[in-house]
Amino acid sequence: RCKREGTDTLRLYTPDLSQDVSAPFELEQDLRRAIDNGELWLAFQPQIDMRSERVIGMETLLRWTHPTLGPVSPAKFIPVAEESGLILPIGEWVLAEACRQAARWNQGRARPLRVAVNVSAVQFQRQNWPRLVEKTLHQTGLAAECLELEVTESVVMQHIDAVAMRLRALKALGVQLAIDDFGTGYSSLAYLKRLPIDRLKIDQSFVRGLPSDSGDMAICRAIVGLASSLGFSLIAEGVETAEQATCLFDMGCCEAQGWRYARAMPGDEFLTWLQARP
Ligand code: C2E
Ligand code: MG
Ligand code: MG
Ligand code: MG
Repeated sequence: RCKREGTDTLRLYTPDLSQDVSAPFELEQDLRRAIDNGELWLAFQPQIDMRSERVIGMETLLRWTHPTLGPVSPAKFIPVAEESGLILPIGEWVLAEACRQAARWNQGRARPLRVAVNVSAVQFQRQNWPRLVEKTLHQTGLAAECLELEVTESVVMQHIDAVAMRLRALKALGVQLAIDDFGTGYSSLAYLKRLPIDRLKIDQSFVRGLPSDSGDMAICRAIVGLASSLGFSLIAEGVETAEQATCLFDMGCCEAQGWRYARAMPGDEFLTWLQARP
């Protein structure tokens, strides 16, 4: 390890991880192995149409069961994967696996499910996503309109022109585009309305305080108003209680995901859960 702690590895030490200096590098090595050892797997969290209480889709969330540490939070290992570039092969696998599962679940369904996949800035900047998505849809047979890509505001607002071009190319394939964690970044509203975005995801940090926190109420109302006037669809994340769901619904946000409905589940469990619903 000492050998590798030269200047070339300094870039791994992001402030967030600096408490334990050895952690990121070891985590990176472990993550490299995790891919081959099959320690990564996908969880799916249902997304609900609150009007009908129907399941309309699911978000794909990456999971890592480390052989000795147990489950490692994505909040911890995604940044390591991004810094090291491992997010590129991992992200390709996530996309392919999510599309493959969704295509299978959609066979014979009257209302096909939409599957959301998270894409980080590094993936977007360093890979040709329109081409990757086109290839993956072709290989898995998933209908383009059933795939939704979630990007954060920082992805969209960095290198705005290059990103806008890629978003338009993705949109031309027929996939749906969502802005994740909306309200936590620094979106320029002027740009936002010119991008081919379908949906805003209200961040869970604003959902948490509903309905008692007047600040969160105001922010959620503002996002709903913005979405309705600019023509974006909406989904709220991190909905944990009936009160939060009712509050969002009354404001005009009709889609939700969160523990109130279901936690993220492995694919086979998701399917069982889905089939048990009326
Ligand atoms: P995100 O995309 O904003 O995902 C929502 C997070 O909220 C997930 O955390 C989910 O498990 C959690 N969550 C869902 N419902 C509730 C709820 O009712 N209450 C609370 N308190 N939390 C809830 P998770 O799975 O730890 O993922 C964290 C972040 O990691 C994600 O945030 C996403 O940015 C990133 N991530 C996850 N999978 C991938 C992936 O495949 N690729 C990339 N690039 N990033 C990923
Ligand atoms: Mg997300
Ligand atoms: Mg989110
Ligand atoms: Mg989030």
